[in-house]
Amino acid sequence: QAADNPDRSVAFYSQDMNQGMQERMRIESDLRQALGNGELILYYQPKFEIVSGRIVGAEALVRWLHPTRGLVPPSDFIPLAETTGLIVQVGEWVLEQACAQAAIWQRAGVPPFRLAVNVSAREFTPTLPARVADTLLRYQLDASWLELEITESTLMHDFERVTAIMDRITALGVSLSLDDFGTGYSSLSYLKRFPIHTLKIDRSFTTGIPSDPSDCAIAGTIISMARQLNLRVIAEGVETLAQLDFLREAGCDEVQGYLYSKPVPAFDFERSLRENWLLVS
Ligand code: C2E
Ligand code: MG
Ligand code: MG
Ligand code: MG
Repeated sequence: QAADNPDRSVAFYSQDMNQGMQERMRIESDLRQALGNGELILYYQPKFEIVSGRIVGAEALVRWLHPTRGLVPPSDFIPLAETTGLIVQVGEWVLEQACAQAAIWQRAGVPPFRLAVNVSAREFTPTLPARVADTLLRYQLDASWLELEITESTLMHDFERVTAIMDRITALGVSLSLDDFGTGYSSLSYLKRFPIHTLKIDRSFTTGIPSDPSDCAIAGTIISMARQLNLRVIAEGVETLAQLDFLREAGCDEVQGYLYSKPVPAFDFERSLRENWLLVS
C-alpha cells in the first residue's frame, strides 16, 4: 500500500513524470530534425466573402509529415513547440514557406487574395517586422498578399511593445487578424487600441449555430460589434448551410470551414482555385 510505503508512491509518480518528460523531449528533438529534413508542410484553407461568394483569402496551416507516425496535426506539436521555444523556428519556416507559395501564385497571375499565417505570442517580438519585410522583399511579394493571425494571448503582453510591433507590421501593408476571438481573457478595449483589421469568430461559437441560443447571441454580438468598430469579421469552422444562413443574416463578412473546403495541400488548393473558386458567381 502506498500509505505504508510512501517512497514507493513517490517512485511511481516520478517514473510517470519521467515518461511524460521523455516523450516530450523525444518529440522536441524529432521536431528539431523535422525542420531540417523538410518534414513540415503547409495546408491551405480558403476564406470566402459571403455577399460576393468570392475567395478573399486563405489560411496556411502547418502539418508534420512524420516518417513513422504519418500526418501529425498541429495540436500534437504546436503547444509543445510553444513551451520549448522551438515555435520560433517553426514560425520562421511557416512564414518563409507561405510567402514562397504566395509569390508563386502572384507571379502566375492568380487574382490576389490574402494568405494568413498563424503567429504565436512567442514569435511576436520586435524582430518580427523586419523579418516579415525581408521575406516580402526576397520573394518580391506584394504585402497585400500577407496577413498574420494572432491570438488574444499576444495582446496581453506589454502594451507599448505590442503596439509598436503591430504598427511596424501594418505599415508594411500586411494585415492583422485576431484569431479564436471570444475565447481569451483580455479586455475588449484593445479592439480600438490595436491596429487589427479582422476578427475571427472562434469555431466553438460557430459550432452551436443555429441550435444553441447562447452561441447565436455571442456570434451575433461579435458581428455587430465588429461592424460598428469598422473591423471585418469572419466565422471559422462553418460546416453547414444553416450556419451560413445565420451568419449572412447577421451581417458576417467572410466564412471559412469544411462547408467549402478542408485545409488541403497546395496542389489541391490550386486545382480548386482553377476549377471552382475563381468562377465568379
Ligand atoms: P486556428 O488558427 O484557429 O485554425 C483553425 C483550425 O480549425 C484548423 O485546425 C482548421 O483545420 C480547423 N477548421 C477549419 N474549418 C473547420 C471546420 O469547418 N470544422 C472543423 N472541425 N475544423 C475546422 P488545424 O489545422 O488542426 O490547426 C489547429 C491550430 O493549430 C490552429 O488553430 C492554430 O492555432 C495552430 N496552428 C496551425 N498552424 C500553425 C502555424 O503555422 N503556426 C502556429 N503558431 N500555429 C499554428
Ligand atoms: Mg488561425
Ligand atoms: Mg482560429
Ligand atoms: Mg480556433
